[in-house]
Amino acid sequence: MTYEQSEIKERLRWLIKLRWAGCVGVLVVTHIVREIAALDFPLIPVYIILGIVALYNLYFQIKLKTRVEDLQKNAAEQISLDFLVLAAAIYFSGGCDSPFLYYYVFHIVISGILLPRIWTYRFAVLAIVLPTIIVGLKHFGILPHFTVFRNEPLLFSDLSVMAAYGGVFASTLLLTAYFITYLSDKLYKKQEEIRRLYILSEKLRSSIVISDVIETVKEELQALSGSENIKYIPLNKSKLALIADSHELTIPLADRNAFTDTLLSCEAHALETTVVTSEYEDKVIKQLMGSPKEIAVLPVRAAFTTKCYEMFHCPDDTGCAAYGSEDRRCWYISGTHCHGRIMRNVTEKLKECIDCDMFAPVGIFVMDTTRKSKLEPKTDIEACMRLLDAASLAVSNAKLYEKTLELSEIDGLTQVKNRRILLKQLGAEIQRAHRYKKTFGLLMLDIDYFKHYNDTNGHFQGDILLKMIADMISDNLRDTDSVGRYGGEEFIILLPESDKEEAISIAERIRRSVDNYKFPRAETQPEGKLTVSIGVSSYPDDGDKWENIIRSADDALYVAKNTGRNRVIAANMPEALI
Ligand code: GH3
Ligand code: MG
Ligand code: MG
Repeated sequence: MTYEQSEIKERLRWLIKLRWAGCVGVLVVTHIVREIAALDFPLIPVYIILGIVALYNLYFQIKLKTRVEDLQKNAAEQISLDFLVLAAAIYFSGGCDSPFLYYYVFHIVISGILLPRIWTYRFAVLAIVLPTIIVGLKHFGILPHFTVFRNEPLLFSDLSVMAAYGGVFASTLLLTAYFITYLSDKLYKKQEEIRRLYILSEKLRSSIVISDVIETVKEELQALSGSENIKYIPLNKSKLALIADSHELTIPLADRNAFTDTLLSCEAHALETTVVTSEYEDKVIKQLMGSPKEIAVLPVRAAFTTKCYEMFHCPDDTGCAAYGSEDRRCWYISGTHCHGRIMRNVTEKLKECIDCDMFAPVGIFVMDTTRKSKLEPKTDIEACMRLLDAASLAVSNAKLYEKTLELSEIDGLTQVKNRRILLKQLGAEIQRAHRYKKTFGLLMLDIDYFKHYNDTNGHFQGDILLKMIADMISDNLRDTDSVGRYGGEEFIILLPESDKEEAISIAERIRRSVDNYKFPRAETQPEGKLTVSIGVSSYPDDGDKWENIIRSADDALYVAKNTGRNRVIAANMPEALI
């Protein structure tokens, strides 16, 4: 049983105890009043009503001892029965002067602490309607008048007095309903928020991967807000955009809209979809969210203390238009100062900002906050933000973990994959190609006379050249291809889904790019320029094990070196073609 259920059950037990006390109290008081005031009213209706109350009270008491599935329904049943009994008590004890009217106010409080807001309002209306009907029926003589205290109804004769009493009674009921539901909602929400925060921190302890953290936060946001329709849109650093993978929705950061504003400022934005101004917002709302009326956009960020815009404040003597303005996105004004340097354009500024390790945002949640009815409380966006803040430390850890993984997979100098990860990828590619009966190509590239370049220009310049060659290789590849540093100045390039012909043409493209490029200080090289030699092999023609595929490419490279360098040679080619 959940915490709320056990709490409601406890409150229902108290209601039953109170009802017992009420029955005894009414019985005793009725007798005392009868004696003291020497009234001669029949006791039968009192006994019948108290008997009915005792019966159903006993029924609910026994029912609560067993497993109750729907506690709210149980509470609504109890209060409804009380309302009917109270109506009967009001009938027998007069009408609008009946002391039992006060119990309606008391029951509104009970409904407020047991049931959702809408029920309390329903009961408040019922508490006005029921006595009014009884009083009305008596007034028009449809129901016979019956009273404990006097034979003639006191207030029936004077409609204005009756209206005044009725007005006070009705307004007391409604005000009680309003305040009790307000207080009860607030308390419940705070309690729920604390509980969610606790659950979140428990769950996040075991999440170090960013996707797990996001999934956990999403679940808790759904539970806290009651909104099932929540979508996560991550930041894609290389494309400088928010990209919802599943729907291929791209929102460039350079476009100003609620999503990019949320990400860059790390502040939540609430939005009525009728006032959407950007085509990107419109697309996301329609395609991703299914056209809700209202949405909230919430930032997901790491817990670094400095927000990115704080890094971008402009010194006041630079004449920057963004200085001192409310708009913290000074990168919208092209050519303003950042870090004391003049940035050329928005994209460059964004790139600079996002590449910084202090850049905390990782994505946004878009949440459907449309209410089903006006009575339903609004989504508490501040509570959602507190939840996201609580998760920001886990986001930081996940970001650091991602970075560590990345560092363990790339070569520090050339920024391409390192040998370990490339060989792992080669193994996986062999398995994949084997399973789906595909081919793939592998290139082994070596810089010609690199030792000479190093000896002439120094190792530092050699390092710069290595990085330039690595970039040049990457620029000539498709997204699905991979390049890794195999050894000193040797690179391996993996070309999935390519046969030998395609692999040769890609290799030739790379060789030509290097050949045509004017590298710094390359004129002192033996050939007067800087070139590369490439050996090509493919799966499964040149081997079905990674060692064999690499050896074949290496052998082909060896042939390329021995036949004049600056050339592409494929493994196992007829000698006449070399
Ligand atoms: P070839 O055309 O036959 O390939 O001649 P080569 O001089 O390039 O011969 P080889 O491929 O054997 O040369 C390897 C050289 O690469 C040796 C070393 O000075 C240089 N080297 C290896 N790793 C690095 C590195 O990280 N930085 C720099 N600057 N040089 C490196
Ligand atoms: Mg070499
Ligand atoms: Mg070499």
